[in-house]
Amino acid sequence: MSDRNALVVGAGIGGLAAACALASVGWQVAVYEQAKVLREVGAGLSMAPNAVRAMEWLGLGPALRERAQGQGIGVRRRSGSWLVRLTDRDLTERYGNPMYAMHRASLHQLLLETAVGAGVRVHTGRRARSVRPDPAVTFEETVCADLVVAADGVHSRLRSALFPDHPGASYAGYVCWRGIGSVAAGSRLARPAVWTDSWGRGVRFGSALLVDSRVFWYASKAGPEGAYAGHTLADVMSIFDGWHEPVRALMASSKPGTMLRNDIYFLKHPLPSFVAGRVALLGDAAHAVTPDIGQGACLAIEDAVMLAVALSSWNDVDDALRDYDLTRRPRTQKLARISGGSARVQQASHPVSAGLRDAVVRLMPKRAYLSAGSEALSWRPPEPARW
Ligand SMILES: Cc1cc2nc3c(=O)[nH]c(=O)nc-3n(C[C@H](O)[C@H](O)[C@H](O)COP(=O)(O)OP(=O)(O)OC[C@H]3O[C@@H](n4cnc5c(N)ncnc54)[C@H](O)[C@@H]3O)c2cc1C
Repeated sequence: MSDRNALVVGAGIGGLAAACALASVGWQVAVYEQAKVLREVGAGLSMAPNAVRAMEWLGLGPALRERAQGQGIGVRRRSGSWLVRLTDRDLTERYGNPMYAMHRASLHQLLLETAVGAGVRVHTGRRARSVRPDPAVTFEETVCADLVVAADGVHSRLRSALFPDHPGASYAGYVCWRGIGSVAAGSRLARPAVWTDSWGRGVRFGSALLVDSRVFWYASKAGPEGAYAGHTLADVMSIFDGWHEPVRALMASSKPGTMLRNDIYFLKHPLPSFVAGRVALLGDAAHAVTPDIGQGACLAIEDAVMLAVALSSWNDVDDALRDYDLTRRPRTQKLARISGGSARVQQASHPVSAGLRDAVVRLMPKRAYLSAGSEALSWRPPEPARW
């Protein structure tokens, strides 16, 4: 066991994945999280084939498959007619895995249990106030380490401290509501399962089958920052009057009071580096993408794996961090750019641009649509799983 120690700020998907990855290559890891209690938060998440490979590297492939539902992907019009539909088999033949959907809480719990099982100490109720690149993090007191991982999310305080000239996250132009419905309400869901997006003008609805007879749904609408803040579930449902079923039925089947609402932000302005001294930024803190490409959590897990690969490949931590920055920045910043463009297209409000968008997708050969995801989905870690 190495005597090198890492301090991870943030116990989200990225921070916990980093804790698992660093512990697996012999680091002593402590995670500091601002929340007093690590509760079940979030709704559904996609685990795309690239994330499945990262989870396999962590030794968590079988556990992921137990907790996630494999499926195809597709896009429908508001009438329900399909613009494109790929089966889980199409995806598996091309990328080695289908699209998996799982509850965020289930992924979070899996990473937390794995980290704690590997000896990681998790401290809750500890909000980082500032960070120094030497490195040290200030809470009520200052804690030093050999390495700090800043995984404190899209509105990262640590990023602002390290890169004071960076403008921070940008609003992507729409709001997203999410919830968990039941399979019974979604009896008109596509079979076999398909992660489905349905497109209107400036409005979208999506759903994905989870394990345990649950269905993750999300609805989005273009508008200024903070728009529709008071919308109830009934208000959101009314946006989808006249849409194909099971759109409204799924929303209606959610437990009262559980709908989530987020203004969507991403890192439009790329950071000049993911490293400052001995601090590595990771996940949304480094390169938040919009949900339009379903990759935020997937890329955070990739980051975690690649940070551990770099640290186990170089004796010197500074060399390893340089390697991490050079490996991760081009890929993730390109995907952040693509996600911003994708948000504009998918949320298109103008009838001409929305009509053009639908026509392009409808006329695109299936093979071309399948290849369009290649940039994100083809990624694999450089080394095979070590567990
Ligand atoms: C509507 C929506 C849908 C999405 N769908 C998908 C999807 O289908 N697939 C996908 O891959 N991704 C998806 N994402 C993105 C995904 O949720 C994020 O990219 C991912 O959770 C980022 O993980 P993270 O660990 O970097 O940040 P977070 O999960 O935000 O975790 C950051 C953690 O840091 C803690 N923290 C913050 N500040 C401090 C501080 N100062 N001190 C201590 N702790 C602190 C926070 O409390 C939090 O626990 C979606 C996002 C949204 C908003």
